[in-house]
Formats: sequence, structure tokens, C-alpha cells
Amino acid sequence: SASTKSSGANSVMSKKEMQLYDGTDFPWSKAVEQHLKDSFRLSTFRPLQLRAINLTLSGKDLFLVMPTGRGKSLCYQLPAVCSNGFTLVITPLISLMEDQIMYLKSIDVPAVMLNASSSKEHAKTVLAGMMDPKAPFKLLYVTPEKIAKSKMLMSRLEKAYNADLLSRITVDEVHCCSQWGHDFRPDYKLLGILKRQFPKVPLIGLTATATSSVLKDCEKILCVSQPITLTASFNRTNLYYEVRVKESDISASINDIASLITDRYKDQSGIVYVFSQKDAETVSSELQKRNIVASPYHANMEPNDKSHVHRKWTSNKIKVIVATVAFGMGIDKPDVRFVIHHTISKSVENYYQESGRAGRDGLPADCIVYFGFSDIFRISTMVVMENVGQKKLLKMVEYCQAVDRCRRSLMAVHFDEVWDDEGCNQTCDTCRYANDCTSVDISTHARQVVQIMELAESMNEKLTPLKLMEAWLGKGPAKYRKNLQTSTLSRLQCEAVIVRLLLQGYLREDFSFTPYTTYFYMKLGQKAALLKNHTHTLSMKMRTTQKESAMVKAAKIQEIQDRPPLVPDKDTSAVKADETEVDLTFEPDV
Ligand code: ADP
Ligand code: MG
Ligand code: ZN
Repeated sequence: SASTKSSGANSVMSKKEMQLYDGTDFPWSKAVEQHLKDSFRLSTFRPLQLRAINLTLSGKDLFLVMPTGRGKSLCYQLPAVCSNGFTLVITPLISLMEDQIMYLKSIDVPAVMLNASSSKEHAKTVLAGMMDPKAPFKLLYVTPEKIAKSKMLMSRLEKAYNADLLSRITVDEVHCCSQWGHDFRPDYKLLGILKRQFPKVPLIGLTATATSSVLKDCEKILCVSQPITLTASFNRTNLYYEVRVKESDISASINDIASLITDRYKDQSGIVYVFSQKDAETVSSELQKRNIVASPYHANMEPNDKSHVHRKWTSNKIKVIVATVAFGMGIDKPDVRFVIHHTISKSVENYYQESGRAGRDGLPADCIVYFGFSDIFRISTMVVMENVGQKKLLKMVEYCQAVDRCRRSLMAVHFDEVWDDEGCNQTCDTCRYANDCTSVDISTHARQVVQIMELAESMNEKLTPLKLMEAWLGKGPAKYRKNLQTSTLSRLQCEAVIVRLLLQGYLREDFSFTPYTTYFYMKLGQKAALLKNHTHTLSMKMRTTQKESAMVKAAKIQEIQDRPPLVPDKDTSAVKADETEVDLTFEPDV
């Protein structure tokens, strides 16, 4: 399932040359084999691990792109114990460091860390150890902040370098260097100093999610030239991907989730991801009411409570964690059988990573996302400050709305991977139900929406998605639908059409900021003008099962409905961003 990919212009090795690095006749091969078995207590390498290890031990700079849980750590930890001196490891989270050090301790590999909360005494011992030719530790974990801020550390690194004791530099979560990566950390920008000061030391950058453009950016930022990039296939063949429509009635989706958990995942362990801290509390208590052993998890909980919940879940005393994205990095439970997203993720990359916590043991597991109309706009207001936040969110929406494209193929795009639909083998809902969809002409519906938008614009009024929807359904203030046709579609179908128009550029988003909240409005997109031409048609693929089949029929029946104007009311339906959480919590949270 693994493949290597030459990274364009900077690839300096042919496939044949590359394969030489899968060999076992290097000067270090015996030691590598021995430590794999005796120190790490593993029997065999996983795909690409040995190649990565041989490349870095040959002194090459390396980027290793491998999905979470595949075993990237071994690719620098094993070389560390086979080399003189120590390996410097830059890690973004203290909790990740603690996990690693605990693990290394358990297998008798000496490792230490330096971070803002290290005591003076500890720091002193560590700094002295860096100069010790006997190498009292093989790995030194630091935060990027430490590199940026501690002159003492840099000066010791320099001394160690000159004494040939700095054997390797590892940059974990290397995508954090790039603003285009999904967890940009400003201090990572400064790590170029390492390769500039210590050019002879091989660098190895690790990440689970980085496109080639992000890697190019990281290459520049880290000042490495022509690193070799090894990329493992993103495809997790044991995961089943499914999207379910989330209705505006919230209890419907909770009931659905609850019955999945009690029926399909009886006695199995899983995660339900939610949008906000408040959602974590409410969804968790709703599940509890339905006799499910669930517990909330979010960044605002006491550290003790968090680790308590985490431990109970790890030992299967809690079945389901209802969590915000704060529950993530460092989670390494192998037997997670389902990851359900109660709300869509903010990007396909995030979704891949979050849902990818399922099935680490290689056994079948399900990844289900509930796709709700109003959630799009809740997340939209949350990512409005991010450069490409909107664009990424719409890709996620596209992933959810697609009914005729393999979910895996839509993910493959994000990993720059060439994808063959055969590779899915019916392990996503669209491949499984490929024959149940039809193309529906939505031109008339689109024109109705545009007319409502134009009417509002002529009155200098802004419409929230909800207001637009209501006007189209013939509800709410009559001024927004004066003499206009109301829709013959159901609410869900109307939502689907509006989403389609948004994705295709017939509608676009517009924000307005107040000191308290961000409002999200709909605006006509560039393509809206095309609909003036009556030969312009627009269609979308829809499922022909149950709910959607009505749409197919309705598309053929158009009726004109004039309704008497009602008294206009105040616009109170603006979308308000709830308290939400970012992807990384920088304190130890596990
Ligand atoms: P990543 O950093 O890629 O997310 P880790 O390095 O944390 O993944 O490894 C995930 C898990 O896989 C760990 O429990 C590790 O012990 C295990 N693992 C790594 N390599 C192997 C291997 N060759 N055989 C068996 N298990 C492995
Ligand atoms: Mg890792
Ligand atoms: Zn598929």
C-alpha cells in the first residue's frame, strides 16, 4: 500500500537508486536489525521505514510523509540509537514529547526534553549531557520556541556539532513550517537556522499531511536543498467512508448517531467529533440519556478531568468520547471502530486526519460525517480570518455533497496522489451506491434563487443563508419574495441547491463584523449573470433514493405561486459563531 513519489524537479534519485535503500548490506544494517528487535521489540519494518532509515543514516536530508499511526517515529528513533551522540527532535506539543519520552523510557532508550517548564537544574544536566561523548541520552526533544529563544541551547548545539555529537535533526509535524499547512506555527519559521548553522547534519522532516506545495515551502523555510521525499499512500483500505445528510432538526441526527452506536457499534470504542465545547456537552448528555457510556472532551476542561476521561476511554470504561478537535494529536488507541463527525470538519485534510483515528489496528472501521446546511456557515465564520480557510471549507463541502465521486478520490487530490477508482473497492458510500444517482436540471431553481437575491439587493438588504432559504420556501418576511416564485422543493432539497450554487460560484459568501460576532451573508456570485441567458442550464447529481427522489419529480413540475405580502420582521437569523477550538492545544492535554 505504500509508494514513493519523486517530488518533481528536486528529485535526484531514480527509482532503481531509491530501491537500493531498501537493502540490508549497509555498514549499519546489522545494528539496525538488532535494535529493531532488541530495543524496539518489533519483528519487521512497515513499508518505507527501512528505506527512510537507510537514507537518513546515509546522511541524506529527508521528508517523510506518512499517515498518522503508520510509524514515522521509528524512522528517527532507530537511527538515533545507531548513531554517535544525540538526535535533536523538534516537536510542537509538550504532550507529544511526554508521550515519546515515556515510551522510550519503557524500552530503555535514554531521552530527555527541554521546554519552557523545565527546571533550571534539569536544563543544566541536559546542556551538560549534550557535550558528553558518552551520550547520556540519544534523543533530545525541544519545542521550536526553545530553538528560537534560547541562546544557551544554540551555543551548546554548536559545541556538540563541532564535537560531532549532533548526529541528526528531526522536525516532527514539519508542515507546521508553512502557512499553507493546516497547523502553521510561527516559531517553525525560524528553524532554518539549524541547517544554516549545522549544514553537515542530516535533517528528517515528518508529517502526515503535506501537499507538495507545502513541502516546497517547508524546504525553503528549513533551508534544506533537494531533500528526498518519501510518501506513503494516504489510502487507508480498512476504513469505510460515508456522508449522511443532517437535518435542521438536531434531535434527528442525535437519534441516528445513537442508534448507530447501540446497534452497529455495540460494545465498541469510538469518537464523536463536534463543533464546539457546548456541543460536546450537549451531544454527550443526549447520548447518555440514550444509555450510551459517553463523555465530553474539550480544551476548556481541567487537565485532570481531561486525562481522566482519556484514560477511561483508553481502557474501554468509556465507550464514546464526544470531543472537539482538541482531542486529537497523540491519540493512539488502536481499536477505534468508528469516528462520527456530528459537524463537518473545516477542511478535507482535517477530516482525513480526524477520521483517520479510526482503525489504527488495521481492522475495519467506519468514518461517518453528518453534513448539515447551517454548519457550513458556522464554520465559515470561524475560519474567516484564515487566508485560505474559505476555500478549504468549500472543498470539504464538495466532499460531502458529491454523490457520484469516490470519497477517496476526493481525498487523494489533497495528497497530490494519483487515484484509481478501482482502489476503493466499494469502501465508500458513493462507490457502493454508484448506480443510485441521477442528473437533475436545477436551472429553474437557480433562477428563483437569483431573483430573490436580486430583489434583496434592490432593497439594499443582506440575506443570511437562512433568510434566503425561508424566502424561497415562502416563509418569513414577504418583502423578500414579492411576486416571486416559491420553491416546490423540500427544505433539504433547497439546501442542496443553495450549496451547489455556492460551490459553483453562482452564490458567494459575504461577511460582516461586529465587535461581538461575525455575520455571514449570501451574495450573488460571478456566475449568476449567466442565468440571465435562458439557454444556460445547470444540473446536479442527486441520489435517487427516498428523500432525493422527490427532487427528481419536482424538477419536472413548476408552479407559480403568488403570495400576499406579510408584515416584514427584523433580521434576527444571522449566523453566530459559537465558541470553537483550534486544532492544536499547546499545553499538555493528554
Ligand atoms: P506516526 O508518528 O506516524 O503517527 P508512530 O511513530 O507514533 O506513528 O507509531 C504508531 C504506532 O505504530 C506505535 O505504536 C508504534 O509502536 C507502531 N509501530 C511503528 N513501527 C512499527 C512496526 N514496524 N511494526 C509494528 N508496529 C510499529
Ligand atoms: Mg508521530
Ligand atoms: Zn469509493
